Amino acid sequence: MTPPMKLTLPLVSLAALTFSASPALASGHAEAEAQTLDLSKQTIAMRSVQGPGNETPKVAALYRDTLIKAGWSPSDIEIVPVDDTAYLLATWKGSDPSLKPLVLSGHMDVVEAKRADWQRDPFVPVVENGYLFGRGALDMKFNAALAVSTLIEMRHKGYKPKRTIIIAFSGDEETTMKTSRLIAERLKGAGLVINVDGGGGMLAEDTAKPLAWTWDGAEKNYADFQLEVTNPGGHSSAPRKDNAIVQLSQALVAIGAYHFTPEQSPLTKAFFESAAKITPNPQVAGAMRAFAADPTDADAIATLRSLPEFIGRIETTCVPTMVNGGHALNALPQRATANINCRIFPGHKREDIMAELAKVANMPVVKFSDVTEGSTPSPASPMRPDFVNAANKAIHLAYPGIAVIPAQASGASDSMWYRVNGVDAYGASPVLIKDSEEFAHGLNERVPLSNIAPGVVYFTSLFTDLSK
Ligand SMILES: [Zn+2]
Repeated sequence: MTPPMKLTLPLVSLAALTFSASPALASGHAEAEAQTLDLSKQTIAMRSVQGPGNETPKVAALYRDTLIKAGWSPSDIEIVPVDDTAYLLATWKGSDPSLKPLVLSGHMDVVEAKRADWQRDPFVPVVENGYLFGRGALDMKFNAALAVSTLIEMRHKGYKPKRTIIIAFSGDEETTMKTSRLIAERLKGAGLVINVDGGGGMLAEDTAKPLAWTWDGAEKNYADFQLEVTNPGGHSSAPRKDNAIVQLSQALVAIGAYHFTPEQSPLTKAFFESAAKITPNPQVAGAMRAFAADPTDADAIATLRSLPEFIGRIETTCVPTMVNGGHALNALPQRATANINCRIFPGHKREDIMAELAKVANMPVVKFSDVTEGSTPSPASPMRPDFVNAANKAIHLAYPGIAVIPAQASGASDSMWYRVNGVDAYGASPVLIKDSEEFAHGLNERVPLSNIAPGVVYFTSLFTDLSK
């Protein structure tokens, strides 16, 4: 469900980048590279969509069979059916049982895709002009295949982890997140989670050169609040003062004009400091630096608030997303409702945000209720040196000189279920793509195959450093 991190291209200057070398072309990783493409294609062909005929359990079975063939013990692999889906846990035992496991987190399900809307069949993988097309190519069957294939190659080459590595793939991340929650509860004792469905990087639109790479260590908390006004109604020829639509509208106008107090965490401070370095617009770069130095700086706040790609990075945002009201053209409305969708900074309770909105609306007749589904408030994971150092080293092996930008994601991903259980989780996919080709959840989803070789280099380094 996580929309990928976007810096929006016009803000990124090519000239500001020191990056020049082409990606380090992998050598000695032929096995993982070939298997990545093979597993990506096989899993894209499986329609792992919630509902009748959900083939997520087939994806899990394919991974189980592949891992067993590669040396995993059948007793270390578990597929647990849940409703029409399933989750997968596969353990590679480390030599030191005193170390808390490293979890490789991902999901096997995809968002629905309709054949009629796509140029190609979304569930038939197609390789064309250096891209792999298909539903899940970007979110996240390619990523899963890349990570698993890398682990398999590491095992075949004789690597022996000290720390146990657990592959934990959920089966309903895009919908109810029931399996995500179950997995995270079972893995409460883990030491660290790498979510290969978070983070990622950006390629230049014109040259396809790597521009910047992001990892995330927190996400905003998703919330939906319903506003409702009810009224006895009546004939529209005899208006009353207390019109439900008018009252609801007044509340919405007040909420629409309201801003929550800007705030900052170590992670969002690091984001602005890093992003400022590759932002060519001096006013925006200056605002980023000023906000990082002082999150109460009024000018910086005004500038960042005016930019949709940055407003959510400085404060909790709440915005009306749906309205409904009335039942006949010639009747006074008996009911009017609206949905307010919020992305809440970690550290706040949903009920406190809802209470603040009710205060802002200042309309006691408007009834507020929390109708959030499938989300939980989760704390930020700290900027752990073991993760930060390993991630920086790995991405620079794959893409020397690339700018690294720590970030807080907009939510919601599987990471929140781990974080709420006290396990540090980091979104850290090595997949780089042009903004204009980013179609996760959308039409004609694709991934550039140029990600395979550097992706294997990255995962080999990251998994080794975090488990040796
Ligand atoms: Zn995803």
